[in-house]
Amino acid sequence: MTQYDFIIVGAGSAGCVLANRLSASGKFKVLLLEAGGSDLNFWIWMPIGYGKTFYKPSVNWMYETEPNPELNNRVSYWPRGKVMGGSSSINAMVYVRGQPQDFDQWRDMGNPGWGWSEVLPYFKKSECNDRGADDFRGGSGPVHVATLDKFLHPLCQTFITAGEQVQIPHNPDFNAGSQEGIGTYQNTAKDGLRMSTARAYIGPASRRKNLRVEKNALATRILFEDGRAVGVAYRQRGQDKQAFASCEVIVSSGAINSPHLLQLSGIGPAALLKSKGIDVVCDSPGVGQNLQDHLGLDFLYRSRVPTLNDQLHSWRGKLWQGLRYVLTRGGPLSLGVNQGGGFVRSRPGLSRPNMQLFFSPVSYTKAPPGKRPLMNPDPFSGFLLGMQPMHPTSRGHLAIKSADPSVPPEIHPNYLSTDLDKQEMIEGSKLLRKLAAAPAFADVIESEISPGIDVQSDEAFLEDIRQRVGTVFHPIGTCHMGPDARSAVVDAELRVHGVGGLRVVDASVFPTLTSGNTNAPAIMVGEKGADMILSSYATGT
Ligand SMILES: Cc1cc2nc3c(=O)[nH]c(=O)nc-3n(C[C@H](O)[C@H](O)[C@H](O)COP(=O)(O)OP(=O)(O)OC[C@H]3O[C@@H](n4cnc5c(N)ncnc54)[C@H](O)[C@@H]3O)c2cc1C
Repeated sequence: MTQYDFIIVGAGSAGCVLANRLSASGKFKVLLLEAGGSDLNFWIWMPIGYGKTFYKPSVNWMYETEPNPELNNRVSYWPRGKVMGGSSSINAMVYVRGQPQDFDQWRDMGNPGWGWSEVLPYFKKSECNDRGADDFRGGSGPVHVATLDKFLHPLCQTFITAGEQVQIPHNPDFNAGSQEGIGTYQNTAKDGLRMSTARAYIGPASRRKNLRVEKNALATRILFEDGRAVGVAYRQRGQDKQAFASCEVIVSSGAINSPHLLQLSGIGPAALLKSKGIDVVCDSPGVGQNLQDHLGLDFLYRSRVPTLNDQLHSWRGKLWQGLRYVLTRGGPLSLGVNQGGGFVRSRPGLSRPNMQLFFSPVSYTKAPPGKRPLMNPDPFSGFLLGMQPMHPTSRGHLAIKSADPSVPPEIHPNYLSTDLDKQEMIEGSKLLRKLAAAPAFADVIESEISPGIDVQSDEAFLEDIRQRVGTVFHPIGTCHMGPDARSAVVDAELRVHGVGGLRVVDASVFPTLTSGNTNAPAIMVGEKGADMILSSYATGT
């Protein structure tokens, strides 16, 4: 069968939601195409397996950006999930929705229906919070969200106390009411296993006769007839194939691959497409523009008290914790790397938190692909304090390099290209120093390894930032929604401007970055997108 009602390209955080919801009634035939393979992989399901999948080409696109001028021309490594569940299968599992103002801002940018009160029901619909449902939290959705108190490292309490000592209040739930404060994160997990969207949404739908999932199927082009998307060409195990959609094609390939696929298919800046020999279907200058990402920095401390490094560095420690995990699904391997965190204002006069904090009771030296694996902790007692400014003002872009779909696009993050972004990184660095100087850490910190106490002036902080800062893996915005077809790619119903039968539903449609990690908002976009699609076919619009 090659004829469907809907074809979804990409089984990631948003795509799996769509596949489940659109096939639920049994009324529509749905095809889900995924470039990667099965997620039945120990390193995906075990939370700390993050360290393995981070550099694993069989499940990871492993992109590299172009050199970043403001980062001393360093290239950034950008992992993205290439497997069922997409990036939700390889991410760090922190569950954060963002602030109400993020979504009110989306609405105020000309996107009716995307304000906080309108998106909150979709966050709740997707969620099964282990603390139960209330006005903010969902209690019966597919994505299990777990409280980790039982296995948190004791230094998490030191981190919280240090926060309180520098006037950051303890916040026991970042996703209810106010985000502000310091505390511990919840994870997308259940019973010590990762809760990807493949597990949450595709597992329960896998027996539906009207849902077909094609893995290892790389979409190479969207097929058009008279300005309307009618199908998708894809390559699977060396064979070129086509499938057709009578209702719509929905691109959910993520913030890098969705604009890449649109450009390969003739939707994008006309001059760029022509220069690569691609026939222009629709001159859409915004495709690939408006790229935004969170940039973060860790401070590394040598500790006087044992950290997870002491439990996990030696092969004996790994073996013991591995056995413990296999037998009980408990212990440190059942948690993500970031156990503590927070949301704070880095300077007076701000109306809401602009900075996210991270506390990791394990330290590791990030290495370029193929070098030292992230999973091997440092051979001394150490921990990391980290921060990321949440509302960067720098904007990058990406562009196809070639009409060959197997050639990755050029990615220009354009990090730190505004003074405000540089200033906020410096403020964040000073904030980490202030936290580390709190009395609670006095008996804990032996020394600061990075950046080291020689770094004191704003100039020195900025140079350290240029040398060490890295992505927090939250690219968004490259097919952003908005009313103006000259800059935006999709409208508020996520329909691609200028063509028919085509939507984009994933993190690429965010007009601006949300305050925090982006998986929960991408799932919300999948839920809301599915509802919009189903209601337009229920009423025939
Ligand atoms: C290492 C890492 C750590 C992260 N940590 C966190 C965290 O702790 N908390 C959090 O909230 N967020 C985190 N994120 C971010 C979050 O996971 C993403 O923002 C979110 O998953 C994006 O969802 P998406 O649906 O837009 O894209 P994705 O989930 O990336 O899905 C896109 C899917 O499309 C497929 N695809 C792409 N091109 C094609 C094609 N041509 N044909 C067929 N299929 C295709 C891909 O293989 C992939 O499966 C992290 C991300 C990474 C990479």
